[in-house]
Amino acid sequence: MNKEAYIQDAMAQYEKVLRQQIARCEKMQEATIPKDFSALTTITIGLCGGDGIGPVIMEQARRLLEKLLKKELDEGKVTLKEIRGLTIENRMAKGEAVPAEVLEQMKACDVILKGPTTTPKGGTMESANVFLRRELDLYANVRPVRVPEEGIDWMFFRENTEGEYVLGSSGVEIPGDLAMDFKVITDCGTKRIARAAFEFARKNGKNQVAIVTKANIMKKTDGKFSKICNEVAKAYPEVNAEDWYIDIMTANLVNKEMRRRFQVFVLPNLYGDIITDEAAQIQGGVGTAGSANLGDQYAMFEAIHGSAPRMVEEGLAEYANPSSIFKAVEMMLRHIGLVEHADKLEQVLQLCCETEKKLVVTGTKEGSTCKDFAEYVLGKID
Ligand code: NAD
Repeated sequence: MNKEAYIQDAMAQYEKVLRQQIARCEKMQEATIPKDFSALTTITIGLCGGDGIGPVIMEQARRLLEKLLKKELDEGKVTLKEIRGLTIENRMAKGEAVPAEVLEQMKACDVILKGPTTTPKGGTMESANVFLRRELDLYANVRPVRVPEEGIDWMFFRENTEGEYVLGSSGVEIPGDLAMDFKVITDCGTKRIARAAFEFARKNGKNQVAIVTKANIMKKTDGKFSKICNEVAKAYPEVNAEDWYIDIMTANLVNKEMRRRFQVFVLPNLYGDIITDEAAQIQGGVGTAGSANLGDQYAMFEAIHGSAPRMVEEGLAEYANPSSIFKAVEMMLRHIGLVEHADKLEQVLQLCCETEKKLVVTGTKEGSTCKDFAEYVLGKID
């Protein structure tokens, strides 16, 4: 193909992307009544094992749920539903990021607890997570990080359906010359993540929200994100909105004096992805942090880490830390209104991970196994 033909193809691709995103904006503007997850009388929790270390940690997460929710399961108030087929083998065989029948099973649940899924590097296979966040419109990725002895109590609100990620498989390439990806930030998409962050601050007595962008360089997209967050902030006069750039914020998080002052963060997708791994590492590793993907109609909870294929190759899968998925379970229970169980689990996880620490999972043979650590946690639940 000659260059001119590539340029024509790229322009057609850009037009397609632009039209799709305008249609998405219009859909977002249609008023929908958010589902009140805490008012559900019966709840179906979908469980997806995922890839790599996913099935190992998810087996223990299921045992944890069966123990915590014994009464609700016996009474039929809660149902645990195994969702099959969200594996890299099935996804590659079908050539779909999430095969249609798997998506249907997921949509039939009220909430989903998901093990990590592998995304092949290069090629055209889209990430299952990016697909699910878009299809289920899970726009708020909420990630708490706490290190009490260092005065760290952070809550991250990462925009989950826009930025570089949502168009990550829609870029253009002129072989031998260049490749371009697209980044999108919308007014509606930014307003809803900003509201989620400021509402959280208001309801939890936090007086500061850091808006983190690179608006000095990405003037259109990050500029819009910052501007709209600051507009939303006007409805929350008791909360101080602070603009920060992602590069210095990344440095601030490893500055012990500086980092204590931060409380709530709101960020576009890519920066949120990267900085929450940094924050999780400060807490004790990516195996220690949970994550909620929240939308108005669906919600999906998961560990923040991936499928750790290297651990599997090195025969270390059984040493995977289940703390991250256990924290996701706690967030899920809180979201569906089972607050007493969530409080109990939070208390037990604080004891096992922060204070008593009788068993420690390191992801290596020197540490405890996933199963032994889960026994330790389950043993603290009456
Ligand atoms: P990763 O998070 O899977 O693993 C990186 C390293 O972190 C591991 O080698 C291991 O040393 C450590 N680690 C991760 N989880 C741990 C746990 N529970 N216990 C102990 N140690 C743990 O990151 P990666 O290797 O960059 O990604 C692997 C795959 O996972 C990729 O295909 C990626 O796309 C995918 N991924 C999926 C999700 C998701 O499904 N939510 C998130 C991130 C990455």
